[in-house]
Amino acid sequence: MSIAMTVPVGKAENDTAGDTLKDSSRHANIVSEAETTDGFHLVIDALKANDIDTIFGLVGIPITDLARLAQAEGMRFIGFRHEQHAGNAAAIAGYMTQKPGICLTVSAPGFLNGLTALANATTNCFPMILISGSSEREIVDLQQGDYEEMDQLNAAKPYCKAAYRVLHAEDIGVGVARAIRAAVSGRPGGVYLDLPAKLLAQTIDAKKGKDSLIRVIDAAPRQIPAPDAVQRALEVIKGAKRPLVLLGKGAAYAQADADIRAFIEKTGIPYLPMSMAKGLLPDTHEQSAAAARSFVLQEADVVVLIGARLNWLLAHGKGKTWGSAPKKFVQIDISPTEIDSNVPIAAPVIGDIGSCVSALLAGVDAKWVKPSAEWTGAIAERKSKNLAKMAATLAQNPSPMNFHSALGAIRDVLKKYPDINLVNEGANTLDYARSIIDQYQPRKRFDSGTWGVMGIGMGFAIGAAVTSGKPVVAIEGDSAFGFSGMELETICRYELPVTTVIFNNNGVYRGTDVNPTGGKDVAPTVFVKGARYDKMIEAFGGIGYNVTTPAELTKALEESIAAGRPALINAVIDESAGTESGRLTNLNPQSAAMKK
Ligand code: ADP
Repeated sequence: MSIAMTVPVGKAENDTAGDTLKDSSRHANIVSEAETTDGFHLVIDALKANDIDTIFGLVGIPITDLARLAQAEGMRFIGFRHEQHAGNAAAIAGYMTQKPGICLTVSAPGFLNGLTALANATTNCFPMILISGSSEREIVDLQQGDYEEMDQLNAAKPYCKAAYRVLHAEDIGVGVARAIRAAVSGRPGGVYLDLPAKLLAQTIDAKKGKDSLIRVIDAAPRQIPAPDAVQRALEVIKGAKRPLVLLGKGAAYAQADADIRAFIEKTGIPYLPMSMAKGLLPDTHEQSAAAARSFVLQEADVVVLIGARLNWLLAHGKGKTWGSAPKKFVQIDISPTEIDSNVPIAAPVIGDIGSCVSALLAGVDAKWVKPSAEWTGAIAERKSKNLAKMAATLAQNPSPMNFHSALGAIRDVLKKYPDINLVNEGANTLDYARSIIDQYQPRKRFDSGTWGVMGIGMGFAIGAAVTSGKPVVAIEGDSAFGFSGMELETICRYELPVTTVIFNNNGVYRGTDVNPTGGKDVAPTVFVKGARYDKMIEAFGGIGYNVTTPAELTKALEESIAAGRPALINAVIDESAGTESGRLTNLNPQSAAMKK
């Protein structure tokens, strides 16, 4: 419970304006005093009652005092320069901890800036709560033109799992409890909580306020799979000749690391991690089929999806990517409506991943027959061929650097820091880094995710640094970095151990396009040539490096990680390196049309 404020509840009968001094002394004598609290305190108390200790946000009317109070009451308030990045930080904190990350914004435009992050969190199944101050209902509903007027509750609804508004101080406890439960139970996601300015100022009896708070019990209850579903799945897996496990970020989120590893090792089934599931088992694990990805997707006859959706990232489970051999899918997911979303699922197992995997594991007994040497041998052969090819590419030392030589240098440095957090976004920068940089521990890689979105970079980096207290390396395309670059100031203000590496090839995809008219404007994909992003961080007191060779990059990265301070490495890449849309050329309407 916070400090309750003592406020006068009565007023002297013959109070008159202009007699203030005399008046107030008389007033002090006759008022009765009662312990009261207000909306500001109750919001903070409700969050603290649920062990929420950090708020990411950006202050302004009407929530500045809420942020001040949070800090005064011992919570961490991390202030950003744009709400979208505060929201992304909250979302990644939610993914890392299974507790909803909190983002606090002002009304209308601040809320809308945060909404992008809330929608992205929901899409990625990350638990977060966007709390926004809002204008007065009476004026908003009659559209009478209030300061930052907007019907935020209804604007938020389509983009999140749940949206609530609290109108009375005594309901704040319920509002916060409902938001927490909605964010983390079942399939996690984003929740919007609307707090009108008037609510925050409302006062109520302190005891009544205290009693209205709720500590949420068992916010994400275990969901035990049905035994017959587990049996069905085991039968399908046992019938496989060429089984494959596909681990998604749902599996990483579930924090069932030991059972997932045991299931894979005891069954002997090769596995593929989706990008944010990398490190659930170390990428160097001998059963990893990542270096033979196309081969295993085409050849597998039974695929066990654990917390991974058959969305565009997996070519919807069909087409060339999956080959012509018939396939059966086993799918473990907490959301029953995910099943059959793209292709028929032979054995759905609905429940939380921890419970589902441990139930499957119980069925893997001494008589379990591991996959044939023919299958694992074929994968091993592909892997070693592809790895040798990759090693040769990485060993080249072209001048200027290209994506591969720069990433080869980063990879070798990061091997020494298995617990480092890695943020990664861009087009080519994302595609190449995902396959070149190995992860060794779970929940250490944070990237563009389900939407393949640009702009998560600095928000995720700050969220990961604040949440883990460990260093972060953010590998950013120069275009991707632009979306959140101003948060370098935030990184410097909080002295966070974040090293940002910019792959600078002077443009979106690359920097060589020209304006076909010969006009003065540069081509749509081109940026300022030779930009020195390292100077940006120097403006805020961070360390800047400009590097042009893998050796310089190695040195700068080693130095900056050791310093544990904000740093930015401007890595100059060949401006003609990089393909249009990275590996997503098929999604680009023009190139898709040209292929037809
Ligand atoms: P990826 O992009 O790595 O393939 P997705 O985000 O597509 O992963 O899939 C994650 C899936 O994991 C979602 O379908 C979600 O419902 C599921 N999921 C998330 N958390 C859990 C959990 N604790 N237990 C079971 N399934 C979960």
